Amino acid sequence: MQKPYDENTAAHKVIIYGHPTLRRRADVITEFDDELRAFAREMFATMEEYDGIGLAAPQVDRSVRLLVVGVPEEESDDKFYMAVVNPVITEASDSWDFEEGCLSIPDIRDTVSRPLNITMEYDTLTGEHKTLKASGMLARVLQHEIDHLNGVLFIDHLSPIRRGLLNGRLKRLERESQES
Ligand code: ZN
Repeated sequence: MQKPYDENTAAHKVIIYGHPTLRRRADVITEFDDELRAFAREMFATMEEYDGIGLAAPQVDRSVRLLVVGVPEEESDDKFYMAVVNPVITEASDSWDFEEGCLSIPDIRDTVSRPLNITMEYDTLTGEHKTLKASGMLARVLQHEIDHLNGVLFIDHLSPIRRGLLNGRLKRLERESQES
């Protein structure tokens, strides 16, 4: 799939755990204009610059319901790119476990249980309303990024014991985030 941005697209800075925007519920997008599409291209450029496979607008300190994904395709070096506006999960299957990380929580990874298959309703960058069935890694990334739009982080899905083990490192990130 062709990259959805070019080398002139500016990347944003990703904010880190402890920044209050990461805990806000993001606003619904109602204007499907060139500004939104330009911002989406910047989101793709930012995701690639940070070597991520997904990025939600709150992670660049914009509290709006937009996310992008760039998931490696099986058996090729290509990626599947997609911009998603105002997503809502309407159906979800049984869960599976997989290790997750987050660009806003650097150097911390842990196993999260999430539905394997989802059905999602969303708007495109031109305001078309669509339905997508996703499974596996794509479904997981979409759910992780949709969580960001609701102020939820992957560490919130961990058991109290697992979360407790990360507390010291999270506190340190929080301090660093407030100092920067
Ligand atoms: Zn994340």
